[in-house]
Amino acid sequence: MKITSLYSYNFRNLASCDLALGAMVNVFYGANAQGKTNLLEALYYASCGLSHRTGNEEELIKIGERELSVFIDYEDERSKHRLKVKRWQEGTRGRKEIEADGARIAPKAHYRSSSVVLFAPEDLLMVKGEPALRRRYLDMQLSQTDPLYLDLLLRYNKTVQQRNKLLKDIRDEGAPLSLLLPWDEEFCRLAAAIAAKRLAAIEVLKEIAAAVYSSLSDHKESLELAYRIKEDSSFSEERPTAETYAALLDARRREDIGRGSTGIGPHRDDLLLALSPALNMRSFASQGQQRSCVLALKLAQLEYSRREKGNFPMLLLDDVMSELDGDRRKRLLHFIDGKVQTFITVNDKALIPPLPGSAFFRVREGRVFPE
Ligand code: ATP
Ligand code: MG
Repeated sequence: MKITSLYSYNFRNLASCDLALGAMVNVFYGANAQGKTNLLEALYYASCGLSHRTGNEEELIKIGERELSVFIDYEDERSKHRLKVKRWQEGTRGRKEIEADGARIAPKAHYRSSSVVLFAPEDLLMVKGEPALRRRYLDMQLSQTDPLYLDLLLRYNKTVQQRNKLLKDIRDEGAPLSLLLPWDEEFCRLAAAIAAKRLAAIEVLKEIAAAVYSSLSDHKESLELAYRIKEDSSFSEERPTAETYAALLDARRREDIGRGSTGIGPHRDDLLLALSPALNMRSFASQGQQRSCVLALKLAQLEYSRREKGNFPMLLLDDVMSELDGDRRKRLLHFIDGKVQTFITVNDKALIPPLPGSAFFRVREGRVFPE
């Protein structure tokens, strides 16, 4: 898939624009607060229907306006396509309409069909931050490559909500414990299905990420990825089944009732990042190791998508060139070279070496000027 143009109207501070973006590497440069990240956000929003910066999509509409629209034209081996997202306010309610080649599609279908990897400085938190950040990495990847994953995850989340409501009813209103049984069964079934898909993805991602990491560290260190279902479990090759989750639920039923919430499951599981021999990076990684690790995880995502879908996703690099040192920058540019359509923001365009097939755009006060 190759993006050929972006059209945006009332998206954040961007002036209406209709940009030709046929190059493999598109560099947006300019001073702070001019609209560079907004441009990447517009591309991300048009391709998957979400913002990477906010869950409140009203913020995306230009201040003082009531409606935004973005669309991207792209082509694959066979034909040309257009994806269009329109978002507006009706009173206090936000409305959204998504069209693929002129036909309405549901937000879920849009998200599932997207093919985008974003790398921003916030991603460096993935190594040391909360497990939710690492789960999001897996969930986003699987949603884009496995057509069943998103529905499974949504059904699971709903089951957890219902179970939590019941836990509170048991605690506060004396509802019988036996009411939990069918919910627990459904919970364990869905939990095991999600874990199995996450584990299968990790199997592939870890092999690619380890190769990248190893060469970044001059083959002195190796990166290990593993799925972790309990906070205290260290590095293990455990493969959780419905029975594993059932045993964990049993063990903490009293506690769950007391809290009115479900304390284990895929919504709490973690992706363990470790340096052998079994050193958890969350506690030990240096700044440089964190950067290498996240870069390895992102490149693994690109290659994983290519294997699953037959072509590379688009890559959005927000301000990461200044975060990466020369070696890592070279490594990244070498990987994408000519294969991965990439959109880069940077303050100083001198940070981007001249690459074949690159196009530069200056961004100033929400306007984009091709060079
Ligand atoms: P930096 O180099 O600092 O990352 P940037 O060029 O990436 O800067 P953006 O994050 O794209 O900057 O933001 C540009 C401007 O957009 C900011 O001044 C911000 O206040 C403005 N902005 C954000 N949301 C809206 C909105 N809904 N309406 C109008 N302007 C907005
Ligand atoms: Mg920015």
